[in-house]
Formats: sequence, C-alpha cells, structure tokens
Amino acid sequence: MAALDERARPAVGALAGGPRARRAPGPRDRAHPPLARRQRARSRARERARGLPHADDLLSRRRDPRPSCRDGGARRGTRELRRAAAGEPAAEGQRRRDLPHARVAALVPGALGVRRRPRRAARRAPRAAPARDPQRPDRERRRGDGLRALCAEPALRQPRAAGARRRAVLVLLRVHGRVLPGPRAVLRRRDRRRVRRAVGAGVAGQRARARAARRPRRLYARSPTRRVATGRARGVPRAARRGPARLTRAARCDVAVVGGGPAGIAAALAASTAGAATVLIERDPALGGNATHALVHTICGLYLQDTDYPQLVHPGLPTRWAEALVKSGGAGDPEVAGRVRYLPIRPPAFAELAAQACAKAAALTVRLRTVVDGAELGRGPRETSRLSLRTASGGEPLDARVVIDTSGEAAAAALGGADTAMAESAILQRPSFIFRLEGVRGEAFVGFERLRLSSSVAHAARSGGLPPECESLVVRGDGRPGSLYATLTIPPLAGRTFEPLDPDYLAALRVRAYDWARKVVAFLRATRPGFAGARVADWPARVGIRETRRAIGRIELTREDVLAGRRRRDEVASGSWPIELWEDHRRPRFEYPRGPCSIPLGALVSRSHAMLGMAGRCLSATHEALGALRVIGTALATGEAIGVAAALAAREHTTLASVDAEGVREWIAAHADRYPLP
Ligand SMILES: Cc1cc2nc3c(=O)[nH]c(=O)nc-3n(C[C@H](O)[C@H](O)[C@H](O)COP(=O)(O)OP(=O)(O)OC[C@H]3O[C@@H](n4cnc5c(N)ncnc54)[C@H](O)[C@@H]3O)c2cc1C
Repeated sequence: MAALDERARPAVGALAGGPRARRAPGPRDRAHPPLARRQRARSRARERARGLPHADDLLSRRRDPRPSCRDGGARRGTRELRRAAAGEPAAEGQRRRDLPHARVAALVPGALGVRRRPRRAARRAPRAAPARDPQRPDRERRRGDGLRALCAEPALRQPRAAGARRRAVLVLLRVHGRVLPGPRAVLRRRDRRRVRRAVGAGVAGQRARARAARRPRRLYARSPTRRVATGRARGVPRAARRGPARLTRAARCDVAVVGGGPAGIAAALAASTAGAATVLIERDPALGGNATHALVHTICGLYLQDTDYPQLVHPGLPTRWAEALVKSGGAGDPEVAGRVRYLPIRPPAFAELAAQACAKAAALTVRLRTVVDGAELGRGPRETSRLSLRTASGGEPLDARVVIDTSGEAAAAALGGADTAMAESAILQRPSFIFRLEGVRGEAFVGFERLRLSSSVAHAARSGGLPPECESLVVRGDGRPGSLYATLTIPPLAGRTFEPLDPDYLAALRVRAYDWARKVVAFLRATRPGFAGARVADWPARVGIRETRRAIGRIELTREDVLAGRRRRDEVASGSWPIELWEDHRRPRFEYPRGPCSIPLGALVSRSHAMLGMAGRCLSATHEALGALRVIGTALATGEAIGVAAALAAREHTTLASVDAEGVREWIAAHADRYPLP
C-alpha cells in the first residue's frame, strides 16, 4: 500500500472502505442510474484500471456483499477509480455519508439519497459541542443506540429529507413500538389518511402501530421493555433491550430535577406531563428519598386538621398519589393522632409506585445512581444552566433551561452559588433511625402497651440498662401481623456538633445508630412480653435526616405565616401540618396553625437565580416554618407546583418568577387525571 500512486489513493480508499474521496456534487447524486447501467460502468472502470500496477490488489478483492448503505461507497469507488484511470485528480466538494446505523439505513428506503449539508458550527450552542470519537475523528460520536439517535440525525433534519424523516419515524414505530416525542410531531402534522398512506408505502404492515402512536395510553404497553418482560423481545435491537438509552455528552433538556425524593418525583412528573423534556437525577439506586431510604412510613400533610373525617387538602398530584398507593395496597386507611391525620404507607410500595409512574411518563428520563456534583445556574431565560453529573463510569454534563432543586439539602443551589441558609447546629432537627421488626405478638405494641414499651426503653437508657442515646423509641404497627416500625431518634455524636452535610459524620452516625438499634432489640427481646421472637426485617439504607440546608427564595415563609394560616393571591400549594420540631431528640414540640397556609410561587423560586426552583425540604422557609412544610404531603404539593411552573417557563422562555401563579393553579386543577398513575 505504501507504494501506491498518490493519484489513485482516493479510489483505493473508497473500495477498501477507508477514507473517501471529496468531489463536486453532480446530477447523479439525485437520480441513481439503474443497476445494469451501474454494473456496466463499474466493469468499464475496472477494465481501464487493470492497466495500473497499483490497482491489481484492489481489483482482486471481492466487493462488499452487504447491500444498501455500503453500495454508496462502492459506487463512489467506481467513479473515483474511473477518474483515477483517466488521470484526473479527485475533486473537492460535498460528500455523502452513510447513516449512523446500517440497519436503519436498510430499513429506511431512500434515506441514503439524502445529502448531508456541511456542518454549520454557528447553529450549535458552544456548550453543546458534540464529542469526537477518537477512533474516527471526522465523525461525531454515535449514540449507543443508533435507532434512538435517528430523530436527531442532521441528514434527516434537512428540508429535502421530509420523506425519509417520515419513514424513519415509522421505523422507530416498528422497532420500538412507540414514537419518541420529537418524531411524534412529524406524524401529528399529517392528517389521518396521509399517515395511513405513508405507513403502507414506507413500512408495510405497521398501520396498527401508527394508530397506537395516536393513543398515548397504549404506548407503554408496547414499549420494548414490555416486550422483553413478556418474552417477546425478538426483533428488538440489542441496544433497546439494554433499557433506556444513556444520555450522550452535553445532553439537553427543558427541566432538570435534582433529587428523586417525594418532591423531586412530583416535580418531574408534573413538568413532563406539562410537556417539558425532563431529566430526574437521583444519587441512590431507587426513587423515594427519605420515604424509601430512611423507611419513613406515614405521609403527613395530606389532610386538614381538626376535622371529623379525612379531608384532602391538595387538588392535584398528592391526592392522586395517595389514591394510587391505597389502590396498590401500599397504604392503609388514614389514621388520627390528636388533631391531625396521616396516611400509613409501606415504604417499598412508595418506591415501586414512583418507579412505575416515572417509567410511564412520556417525556421523562430518570438517572439513578447519578450524583450532581457541579452546577452553573442560569439567571435569565436566555442562559442555559449546566449540571455536572457523576456516575460510576465517569462524569458528563447536562444542560437545562430550568433546574429544580429537590435534593433535600439544596445541593444544586449551593453548588451553583445560589443563596442558601441553614439553622445553627444546636437547633437543627435531630435525625432518626427507623427499622422494621417482625415476629412480635400483636398485643405487645397496641394501645397502652405501646406507650409502656417506649417508657421502659427510656427508663433503661436513663438508668444505664441501655446507652443514653436510646432514650427516644416510638413504635407503630404497619398493618401486617407481628410487624412494626421502630423509630429511634438520636442525639448528636458525643463530643461533636451535629453536621448533617458532612458525609464522614453521617457515616459515623450510621455505624453508631446500628449499634444502638441492635441493643434496643436485644433489650426488648429480653424484657418485653411478646418480643421474644422479634427479629429485624428491614434496616434503613441511611439515617433519616430531617433538616439541613435550604435555598433562599424570593419569599421566605415564617412561623407566623404558618401559625396564622396566611393565604396569598400567588399561592401555588398549601401546607396543612402543624409545626413539628425535633430540636430535642427526646420529644418533638408541636404548634398548631389556625388553618392551612399558602405556599406562594416566590417561596419555590431562588432569590438569586431566576431559573432555579426548589421544593420539599429545601424550599424557602425559616427553621420553624420548615418544621411544618417539610412533610411528604407538602413536599409532593410543592414539587408539583414548581414542576408545572418550570414547564411553563421553559415553554414561554421566561423566568420562573414571571410565571403566573394562577396559571399554575389552573393547570394543576385541570390536569390531575393526566398523571401516569393507576
Ligand atoms: C426520621 C424522619 C421521619 C419523618 N417522618 C415523617 C412522617 O412521618 N411523615 C411525613 O410526611 N414526613 C416525615 N418526614 C419528613 C419527610 O420524610 C421528608 O421531609 C421528605 O421526604 C422530604 O422530601 P424531599 O423530596 O424534599 O427530600 P428527600 O426525601 O430527602 O429526598 C431528597 C433526594 O435527593 C437525593 N439527592 C440529594 N443530593 C443529591 C445530589 N447531589 N445528586 C442527586 N441526588 C441527590 C437524595 O438521595 C434523596 O433521594 C420524616 C423525615 C425523617 C428524616
């Protein structure tokens, strides 16, 4: 090869599948000659090239037998070989490329004839520059799943490529059983009759699939995952069988939600249901936040206080969520505790419902085991925010128009330099370690026995029978025979201040909490009737942290707002739980409000960064007000409100602060039945 004549090198490259020649576009690019004519032209070129000493090696090679996408290279090779034989240099100019996925190219008739325009650097946002593949420096790196990347393929965005684009949509239908949000718009533009014709002409027999695309409720049932689960995975490409496509570098979305606890789940479902392309990022392997990982097993803040029967407060997602949990058997009947009511739940059912709902949401991508470890936050609608995501396999950026911080500790706000606050360590609410016991006799933890149990543990902790940190234990049956949750609320580690944002402190606290919990179980087995056969059925993944850092919003809710039940015109959610402060690990302090208080949009929008929203534990409220507003029912409501506001801001290219609160309320009231919940 080294001895090859320079003039013939482009032709050699084309035949051997190597670098291709550049030449000026000609009329044949639009109309391919019939096969017989092409074959004649090729043999003529071979005849002429036969005289060239360096072409012998090439002419003896077999032509690539693969059809379609490879033919383009072979045809070009013929032309270049002819040109080389005639002594002409290869011309510079536009060139064709095969589509990124050979199989798609074969499935999309005519897609090969689409010419790709020279890349326009100016069109691309500087931050979103595509990564280069080190193996093929002249190409953008392909996605793992070429089929999913098809809708973004530049060749198919050309105006002349409309036919190929529609056929590509039909291929997506055929392969995935559903249409991704972008291509669906292509189908929607066509009326019913024309879609049918295109189906018949493009991919035979796919009419039913095209109709399914117009019925959103059936999309999930036909997804590849479902086909894999039901053993009907044949015909599904391997990349699709692996599950959802990973985001490529510099992926973009409308709304990025940081933290998959109750507030984050609600925000992501609301934003995606309102039409925003949404990414939900969670560092743990499952969704649910404290409800899943700290085994929090009751939902507070769903009902009005001081009522004779349970009256739900929130019109939208929190109510639908509670209904879905009850329907799935993951929640019992509402229970009363003094002046308030709560919904008892099973934490695994909460996580399961979250996973199912997020999987069904059309425009939502969930990234589990992914930590947000960096953020540049936009301050206006023209500024894109960039998050840095870290996974086990490395880091990657994610660009978003709006970022919602539902991390419980205002992680995105702090990383991006937004205003945050945190109470002094001495008054921060104390954490709890919750675990589940089985094998307990039923009568041993109901009625007065339950109170006696707590008091005997406290007495033992004070008298040296147990470590002093075990003084505060509360138990609650979970509805199953012999099964109960035990909540051990713990003080700061001896000799250290409480540092809930310090991972080392939390790791040490967890080790000690396990130790204390084991001692309590041993004590109960030895001393309490009915506990002799008790065993630990579930340990929490982490210590339950009630309060850390919060973001400062345009409005900061106060203790007075909560206690007076203050209503506002710009309300987008409301809080109905009393102020419950665990400043002392031994007992909480309750203060009851006059009625539900408004949560205005301003309390969910950062004061310093107009494209940053927050909800749940890190909304904008003082330490005391947060004691009432941090509960799961309110977290679901605030998450939903900021999710809707974020989708509206992204759609209208405005800041979160300029979104109309009434518009958010109206959306919530009108669309509650649209959530993908059973
Ligand atoms: C011990 C305890 C008992 C409680 N009891 C009750 C109760 O009985 N009833 C009730 O209604 N409420 C209760 N609560 C309160 C309630 O659980 C929380 O306040 C509620 O879960 C708040 O939801 P959230 O989504 O704001 O935050 P969280 O539930 O804390 O979720 C935040 C999520 O963000 C993720 N995250 C954090 N940082 C990052 C990052 N950098 N990148 C990616 N992900 C990140 C976390 O992993 C977590 O999953 C209790 C809380 C505790 C701690």
